[in-house]
Amino acid sequence: MLKVGLTGNIGSGKSTIAGIFSTLGIKIYPADDESKKFLDSEKVIQKLTKIFGYSILSNDGKINRRSLASIVFTNEESLQLLNSVLHPLVRQDFLKWVTGFKSEPYLIQEAAILFESGLAAEYDFIIHVSCPKEIAIKRVIKRDQIDGNSVIKRMNFQMDDSVKAELADFVIINDGAQLVIPQVLSIHKHLLKISSERNNNVATGAADS
Ligand code: ATP
Repeated sequence: MLKVGLTGNIGSGKSTIAGIFSTLGIKIYPADDESKKFLDSEKVIQKLTKIFGYSILSNDGKINRRSLASIVFTNEESLQLLNSVLHPLVRQDFLKWVTGFKSEPYLIQEAAILFESGLAAEYDFIIHVSCPKEIAIKRVIKRDQIDGNSVIKRMNFQMDDSVKAELADFVIINDGAQLVIPQVLSIHKHLLKISSERNNNVATGAADS
């Protein structure tokens, strides 16, 4: 089973593309959504209040995501501190999740800052969803009903789209002009082939020894 990372900047269309892979039967681990779940854990709440203070809490003692976002998306160091708490938990959870799907040809982890977090080497292949900034900003404004400046602020903490495209093994252009389904199908076909070849090599190796 191959581990595939699906990345792309905010609003590029990662979840949309992940949805297409999912209709092809591929299992998806949505790391960004999963990481938000850890914000409800008591241990994480304790760690984060130690770092950022009690102003990040709501009256019910839970993390107020808006307050937390207003701190971490204005300051790179704070964002890194938050990630240093959440990333190891998500990584562990992903590795546990993977063990449930050993007979799948490949699995996808969807994560926006896969390159930025230094985890790229953990994947067999990386797919980057590329989208021009102006289009991504418009999409996020529409999706989240937020202002353009907030989107740009978040975007500025992410690596440039073109740098990610250079680093990735596959690039899907999701600019609203090029059809994405044929691009997904082509990558899917490729990954199935590689997965099957690797399985055959393992089987042959086992037979030889
Ligand atoms: P985030 O990093 O913020 O989670 P994302 O990369 O997962 O974003 P999506 O949520 O998939 O991006 O897409 C952002 C918005 O753009 C969504 O509302 C989605 O429906 C829309 N969208 C994605 N791709 C296209 C497309 N090709 N044409 C039109 N709208 C699109």
